[in-house]
Amino acid sequence: MKTTFSLYNTMTRRKEEFQPLTEGRVGMYVCGPTVYGDPHLGHARPAVTFDLLFRYLQSLGYKVRYVRNITDVGHLEHDADEGEDKIAKKARLEELEPMEVAHYYTERYRHAMESMNVLSPSIEPHASGHIIEQIAFVQRILDAGFAYISNGSVYFDVEAYNRKHRYGALSGRNLDDIVLGTRELDGQSDKHHSYDFALWKKASPEHIMRWPSPWSDGFPGWHMECSAMSCKYLGEQFDIHGGGMDLMFPHHECEIAQSTAATGREAARYWVHNNMITINGQKMGKSLGNFITLEELFTGSHALLAQAYTPMTIRFFVLQAHYRSTLDFSNEALQAAEKGLDRLMKGIEAAGRIKPSAASSVHVADLEARCAEAMADDLNSPMVISAMFDWVRTINSAVEGKETLTAEDIATLQQTLRHYAFDVLGLRDEKLTATAGRDRVTPLVEMLLEERLKARAAKDWAASDRIRDGLAAAGIRVKDRKEGTEWEIE
Ligand code: ZN
Repeated sequence: MKTTFSLYNTMTRRKEEFQPLTEGRVGMYVCGPTVYGDPHLGHARPAVTFDLLFRYLQSLGYKVRYVRNITDVGHLEHDADEGEDKIAKKARLEELEPMEVAHYYTERYRHAMESMNVLSPSIEPHASGHIIEQIAFVQRILDAGFAYISNGSVYFDVEAYNRKHRYGALSGRNLDDIVLGTRELDGQSDKHHSYDFALWKKASPEHIMRWPSPWSDGFPGWHMECSAMSCKYLGEQFDIHGGGMDLMFPHHECEIAQSTAATGREAARYWVHNNMITINGQKMGKSLGNFITLEELFTGSHALLAQAYTPMTIRFFVLQAHYRSTLDFSNEALQAAEKGLDRLMKGIEAAGRIKPSAASSVHVADLEARCAEAMADDLNSPMVISAMFDWVRTINSAVEGKETLTAEDIATLQQTLRHYAFDVLGLRDEKLTATAGRDRVTPLVEMLLEERLKARAAKDWAASDRIRDGLAAAGIRVKDRKEGTEWEIE
């Protein structure tokens, strides 16, 4: 089996043949969610992208250690509310312990990921559980001479770092651009320069999330957790670092600077970034009124949504675009994804209805070759899907007797389709899951339909409609046909 593939490295700005540091093993770190709010559409793309990479590496036979963190401390508000932590702010407003807020949204995130068939990573470390490691990491940077202590806080000395290494290499910025892009210091700051960033922040008296350190009672800067935790679980050097493009600057740039300052070498070999999701051509944002949570997508409860979309429709929608391309959300695009997914699942099922022939009129090895080649070319999932659609057409022709396949070829075809659709792309046949649900509710639905039949016989149309509407509200659609009443779960 082919185990080599190319991956676009944001750092070098080109596709590179992937070479792991250790034969047969891959260490991968991906920046995870900040858990102070419900998971939203913006979370779906990085989660599905790196799940695709995780699944693909495993399908090639690699033993993967996939670390995806939970940011539950240190992610500061960027507006003028005096640097209050997002989780602490939510906790104060809702009169909760900060860890209650973090736990609640971590569970909501995990649940949403599970429904989209996103595999759990190998390790999911919390920033708040790694304060000791972060303090030790800050000390290493201080010892190396790339940080300074100021009024109980510790800041990264960007200028000192830039003299020896290059700050801004990932995002292609130089220090002059960064100076122009940062706000002037207001005179209240303990920083020497506007572009210096906090490694450790002294907590103000009202700040509830605080830990003791050699410098002050305080909390780590947001970027610190990823440097400290990737180093702890994957070592000073590891293979792949991933995240959304929006994290390139300042987050990933600061991570690179911290790790290089502490260890003298760059931590990650390949930087992989997914592009963003726009909504009807606009950036998603709370102030724009187009901020859609995953829950709202799954239930259809948002003014912008024409209907509810299943978790698999969202997953398929994400996979239909290459991860480095922009992806625009619209009802039309999601409805097309819903239809496409249905066509693919029906096609896979239809392969089992082909009657075997003595000889094949088509070459089934073509599907495996096309899918393998597409995945090996920087995870080209849309090309994999397009190859599968071509074969769904062939399957439908074969069911009608217009193409022929031997029993062996039918088995190979089914195996290849299932491998790429379910194992690599991570799709799931939601209709099959619904069938299991159908078995459970069947006695109840049958009983209600019997009552409805009685009501109709007695010409009690109001009662009949009430039962039909009640079932509809529970997502069960009733169809009256000549042969009798049919029902299905929507
Ligand atoms: Zn990170």
